[in-house]
Amino acid sequence: MSFKNIISFTLVIIFILFILLIAYNNDVPVAVNFKFLGVKEFTVPVSAVMVASFLIGLLVAFIWSLISTAVQSIETLTTKKRVKAKNELMLLYQEGLHDLLRGNYHQAEDIFKRVLKTDPKDLKALTAMGNVLRIQSKNHEAEEYHLKALLIEDNYLPALEGLFTDYISKNKWVLAKNTAEKILMHNDADVPRYKKELVKIYIAEKDWDEAIEIQNEVIKKAEKENKKEEQNLLTCLEYQKIAEQFEKEPIKDIERKLKKIIETDKSFVPAYTKLADYYIHEEDFANAFKTLNDGYIATREPVFIQRIETLYIDTNQPDDAIEYFKRLTEKLPNDVLPVFTLGKLYYKFEMLDQANSIFERIQAEVAYSPTLEYYIAKSDSKQENLENSIDRLKEIIRHSNILDITYQCTSCGHRTQTWVDRCPKCGCWNCVKLNPENELNELKVKQITPPRIDY
Ligand SMILES: [Zn+2]
Repeated sequence: MSFKNIISFTLVIIFILFILLIAYNNDVPVAVNFKFLGVKEFTVPVSAVMVASFLIGLLVAFIWSLISTAVQSIETLTTKKRVKAKNELMLLYQEGLHDLLRGNYHQAEDIFKRVLKTDPKDLKALTAMGNVLRIQSKNHEAEEYHLKALLIEDNYLPALEGLFTDYISKNKWVLAKNTAEKILMHNDADVPRYKKELVKIYIAEKDWDEAIEIQNEVIKKAEKENKKEEQNLLTCLEYQKIAEQFEKEPIKDIERKLKKIIETDKSFVPAYTKLADYYIHEEDFANAFKTLNDGYIATREPVFIQRIETLYIDTNQPDDAIEYFKRLTEKLPNDVLPVFTLGKLYYKFEMLDQANSIFERIQAEVAYSPTLEYYIAKSDSKQENLENSIDRLKEIIRHSNILDITYQCTSCGHRTQTWVDRCPKCGCWNCVKLNPENELNELKVKQITPPRIDY
């Protein structure tokens, strides 16, 4: 029973009680005189007046309830219509999303336009419209739509995320940074993701200090299985900071910091090479050789062999070079690169017998190894006229790169002629490794089994 009904019911009861009171009380006048329009006078009993008033009251109440019911049904109808329109708009929006996912960008754009025509303040549609425009490289318009959504609700997360991607794709680092910070303040924000995005921005800006600080926060919050990967990135950032300091001023502190990096990650090639560079700069060649040797033992990366060879030649120590590579081949008998380098050094210093014996130990398992063919041909020709032989070799050298050690980025596939600490294309650290197609991978050292001795 509604409040209105209770009131009406109470009033009716009071009215009936009042009638009964009048009917049985003699003090109350029994008739009322009416003067209708001053023409005629009526005498009506009080009870009749009461009954008439009661009936009129009932009529009024009835009409009132009719009107209110009509108003109510009109309201319900409009609400229903509004809900229906809203549902239709929602369905239209979802259709647009489907098109977006299917890659029908023009269609999606048209649909979102239609949604926005009906409701220009639809936050979802404004955001989706911005996203579909960005995908079509209409970055300026994309930003406008996302900003429009943010004008309506300045903390609307999907629009903030859309705007962030707009800025990133146009390398607007400062704006992207501000947007990421706003996103990070949002309760529903994907904090780890946007912290990582911030690190990427600082890397792009070469702000190593900030990048290191945020990366430390990333590591703290990282899931167990991702911790190692995040720690590796931190190593890269710390390395880069030191490397840039080295370019400016090679101070003593660099040695300690690089050693710490090597301790943390023994496979981080750039830290060894930079430390060797530091020792070379300080003319501490013994430590430079030691560092490069440690690097090779730990990683087997050809860059160390190349650097060691170059360093011996630059410091004019041919005997030490041969001595070093002899020891290394004894230590790593199955590793072709030190053996090959030793052969090359023998050849370089005209010790052709030794060179020949080395090259025979290396057997090509591939159909053709130009480098090996070249050296064997050279060793075989040692009995011939040396002058002719040298001329021929010069010709071959001109036409081919002898054991051309090329490198390739393991992350993006970019190729370089020389080893670099950081890929110039994708910016990845410690990713540039020996090109997997390199001839070196095909060469094997022939196992020489020592003769069995029976006692
Ligand atoms: Zn790369």
